Amino acid sequence: MSTHHSSPDLGALLAAGSVPLLPFGAFEQHGPHLPLSTDTIMARALAERLCPVVDGVLLPAVEYGQTTGNDGFPGTLSLSFDTVRAIAGDLISALHRQGARALVIVNGDFGNRAPLALAARDAKERNGFPVLVLNYPGMTEAFAAIGTSRPAGFGLHHADELETSIVLAVAPEAVDMSRAVAEYPVFPPDFPDAEYGMAELGATGVFGDPTHATAEKGEALLDALTAAAARLIGDFLRLHPQDRTGDRTRD
Ligand SMILES: [Zn+2]
Repeated sequence: MSTHHSSPDLGALLAAGSVPLLPFGAFEQHGPHLPLSTDTIMARALAERLCPVVDGVLLPAVEYGQTTGNDGFPGTLSLSFDTVRAIAGDLISALHRQGARALVIVNGDFGNRAPLALAARDAKERNGFPVLVLNYPGMTEAFAAIGTSRPAGFGLHHADELETSIVLAVAPEAVDMSRAVAEYPVFPPDFPDAEYGMAELGATGVFGDPTHATAEKGEALLDALTAAAARLIGDFLRLHPQDRTGDRTRD
């Protein structure tokens, strides 16, 4: 799906009430077999699938995120917490000025959750602009139904069967299954309340068993995630019907 909208085309879509979908990813280690951009690939894939279901319009993804917990592994390039909050805040303000009815952020990275939640709250307090942040709703249930490996625990799916299956489904050229290895970190007793870097918890950066991954499972997982997210977006848009006053000056 293209994000090459022209100015008049995107303006017309927003004016007609299409809801913009912003994939928010990260550039962080995902073991030896998956690309650093895994979270961006996954968030974009889910946003692409949601667009036709929810009358959405796909925005270009933010390809970096807050992932300092992965700094111990080579290649990871992290934004700071405040930068993620500021990028989201700036795009929210810009969409509000452009007359968008709301924004849905499809978040692909755990470390983005808190700064994106704050950016959404800021927007609501500033001018009532509705922002929904999706953190893969329905993921635990979908994996329980489709996955065949044991999850690492604490709701963590990192470079495991789930993430590897989804990347195999949408970008198979980016996966090297010959390098896929399983690792189950032994979590310290104060995890996850105390903060640990990923490199303290394991050697490979994998949380789970990616060797069970297949593209077919990835398709099924994406279908389940799309259905769960579409239900949430539907509820969200019913709560926030389009304001047709056309007043773009508020901010
Ligand atoms: Zn990931």
